[in-house]
Amino acid sequence: MARRDNSPKQNKGNVRKSDSVRKDFADNAYSNGKRSGKKEDTGRAKSAKRSAARGTEGKKRAFGGSDSGKRQEASDFHKKRSGVVPSGNRNDSTVKKYIPREKRYATETGLSAGDWNLRVSVSVETEEQLDAVLHHEGVNLIYIDEACFGIRETAKGGSSAESSAVKGDDAESEAFAKIIENIHKVGKKAGLRLRRIERDTDSGLDSANLIKKLIDRDAAPDALLIRSFDEAMMVSELENSETGNKGLNHIGRIFDYTCYGYNKEAVSMLRDLGAEKLTYPIELTYRECLNLRASVRAASEEGDTSEIPYEMLVYGHLPMMVSANCIQRTSDRCDHQNRFLVLRDRMQKNMPVRCYCKYCYNQIFNAEPLLLYDLEDEIRRLEPESVRYDFSVESGEEVLKILSGAIPENMTRGHFRHGIE
Ligand SMILES: [Zn+2]
Repeated sequence: MARRDNSPKQNKGNVRKSDSVRKDFADNAYSNGKRSGKKEDTGRAKSAKRSAARGTEGKKRAFGGSDSGKRQEASDFHKKRSGVVPSGNRNDSTVKKYIPREKRYATETGLSAGDWNLRVSVSVETEEQLDAVLHHEGVNLIYIDEACFGIRETAKGGSSAESSAVKGDDAESEAFAKIIENIHKVGKKAGLRLRRIERDTDSGLDSANLIKKLIDRDAAPDALLIRSFDEAMMVSELENSETGNKGLNHIGRIFDYTCYGYNKEAVSMLRDLGAEKLTYPIELTYRECLNLRASVRAASEEGDTSEIPYEMLVYGHLPMMVSANCIQRTSDRCDHQNRFLVLRDRMQKNMPVRCYCKYCYNQIFNAEPLLLYDLEDEIRRLEPESVRYDFSVESGEEVLKILSGAIPENMTRGHFRHGIE
């Protein structure tokens, strides 16, 4: 039950384009396969260390460890070998623990977060990234990922399962409320990025109830980053409910690039679904983005509605595939800890795999991040209301480098650069 984010053609396009982009940087470090063990020991913060440690353990368990730990009953569905390997040819790809490689930066730099004179949003997936952006003066809004923060369904026991579940739900919303309050304390806006896949069988609070509880706690986020139509519908339903009605009017609804809006008709549908701001589609070239902007503007003038503002992603490892099958669980041993793995493909490219095992889904990221923050003219011509940096595998230190405008030598322009003279 794996779903491709991009069509195969687009994936190939990414690889091809990244090849050509790499030529832009003469001293190409892609062959630099050496791994920085030192950095891992010293530079990475708690969360990365924890996930590395867990990774080792997970591997031990997965590959024949006679571990007596609690094992998850896997459904037949999950016992089936999943389609996590993009090529379908398992023999050519391997999954390993993710060991961060020291990034090398080009001599050129791009715009720093503080130089945009636009609102700057960031999304974070680890505590370390959150710490890094919390006091960064260039950042206005921080999205925290629902699947990466809060509490995990861990220590059970003591009282009945039901009352511990209620306690767990309260602890979950309390944990989010705390982070949101901390973000507000430093004068920034807080956003909640909803999980990429939600199942009825997910443990703990569902997104709707998490939002309700946050509203009840008076710790509602300022914005929701909505990533699927299901979520858009869920938020609309919530809006019409009693709780939602009280608080939801104040929560901005930003649709991520995963809610496709390639033309004005699609954009108008997204507005009907409650979108108050859109993210420029990552599949479009710069020219196509310009045309989209113009047609959306014309449509709003005709229809006498206000023009919908856009957020523009200027940095982030793009997901190549999201899989509802959990790599860990496929081997019958998911401990519901989030972690990073790496998938090495036939071309010996290391693609980070993020296991969001709080809810047991995986995303395979492109090996190289999309990077547009040195294309200031083009970005400004698209008139985004805000720019966004999506952080996933980065250390806190890397987050700060990226926000300062440093350009990693290995990066890609995605589809954006096509059609630029
Ligand atoms: Zn899992």
